[in-house]
Amino acid sequence: MMAKNATEIIADVVVVGGGAAGLAAAVSTAERGHDVVLIEKNGFLGGMATAANVGTICGLFLRDDSNNFDFICDGFIRTFAEQLIKKSNANPVRGRDGLKFLPYERFDFMRLCDEMTGNAGVNVLFHTTMFDINVEEGFVQEIKVITGSDVISLRAKYFIDATGFALLGNLISDITLLQDEKYQAGAFVFGLDGIKKTTPHQLNLHVIKAMALAREDGSLKKDDSLLTIVPGSVKKGRASFKLSIPRALHDDIKSVSMAELYSREKVGKLYAILKQYADIFDQSKISYVAPAIGIRTGPRYEGDFVLSKEDVLQCRKFDDEIARATWPIEFWEVGKKVKMEYFNKGSYYSIPLRSARNNKVSNLYFPGRHISANDQAIASCRVIGTCMQMGENIGKIISKKLSEHN
Ligand SMILES: Cc1cc2nc3c(=O)[nH]c(=O)nc-3n(C[C@H](O)[C@H](O)[C@H](O)COP(=O)(O)OP(=O)(O)OC[C@H]3O[C@@H](n4cnc5c(N)ncnc54)[C@H](O)[C@@H]3O)c2cc1C
Repeated sequence: MMAKNATEIIADVVVVGGGAAGLAAAVSTAERGHDVVLIEKNGFLGGMATAANVGTICGLFLRDDSNNFDFICDGFIRTFAEQLIKKSNANPVRGRDGLKFLPYERFDFMRLCDEMTGNAGVNVLFHTTMFDINVEEGFVQEIKVITGSDVISLRAKYFIDATGFALLGNLISDITLLQDEKYQAGAFVFGLDGIKKTTPHQLNLHVIKAMALAREDGSLKKDDSLLTIVPGSVKKGRASFKLSIPRALHDDIKSVSMAELYSREKVGKLYAILKQYADIFDQSKISYVAPAIGIRTGPRYEGDFVLSKEDVLQCRKFDDEIARATWPIEFWEVGKKVKMEYFNKGSYYSIPLRSARNNKVSNLYFPGRHISANDQAIASCRVIGTCMQMGENIGKIISKKLSEHN
């Protein structure tokens, strides 16, 4: 990173957004010897995984009936998961229908991101928000960020948009964005400790019963507040809960701000209901609330290829594969229970590079939960393990191009 003067930085690659995709992209490119700047608006990395504390990493393992946990590929996801397992003293979990995932502790996830970016030599700029872009003749020339009261211009040979909601694309007139036809519910995660010792199954029954009784006495509305337990989170009197947000969030200030307020108020109410109707919660306390609501989907890029539901369910493979996706379609319609659609056990589909690129802008890539995919396909490929693979492989592709230029 070269600070030309106080207001300009020049690098080989600028990554905007330090979630799963941006983290892997930045580490993978910097490990190959390139000068990488990673811009993150929060004061920590991890994106939805840490800001919304979604609680488990999906998309790491093949789905099958065995008791093994076979990584879908080696590389970044394997290294990340193995180090997280050591740090969190956690084990991967086999859930229903052969689904396999890794629970994690939020702090460990964050620290691992710090260590991996630090070891790879990524220049991470926290509390730095990208807000403007300059594109000339099909190339991104610079982006502008704000940090504290400073506006800084960043110039690079390649740019990676890993903001999760196609921010750079939204600012480029030549690029079209895809919008959800059917919106997927966001959620808010919180934790309780001091719960009486029980199994996850029993805990779930207590929660369902308490919610039903609250609906009967009128303190909860019929279609209000779906509450689920984060899989793998029940241990030593602690558990994490996911509160579904019963309205659409479109990344606009008004709906997102309303949802933050709604979620915190609702957590207080639901906690009181759990205490009132299930004695297992008598001594419990709210141990944390996630710093932010979790937003599953938002605007996505229209790339050179739009990944579809058929590609997912038929396990299509592509020559320009940048990720092997193993997670089924997991669709969270607002106010309804989750709907799962599976492809064959032991199989996977490819995500092509063409869905993370648009040939109208040559030096821009966009891995992560805003790739070019329709509503159903994104409901499968947005999981953390798959986003990390996309980021890693885009890092490799850019590194190769940079080396060829030199
Ligand atoms: C409620 C919920 C539950 C989920 N459960 C699971 C689960 O159990 N397992 C699983 O694997 N996946 C789960 N997911 C999906 C998964 O968490 C996300 O799809 C994935 O983490 C997305 O990663 P990403 O890097 O594409 O985007 P994000 O994680 O959204 O990262 C984007 C990053 O960009 C930063 N950013 C945005 N704008 C700017 C800007 N202007 N300037 C600088 N930085 C910016 C953000 O702060 C953020 O850090 C869940 C999602 C939700 C919402």
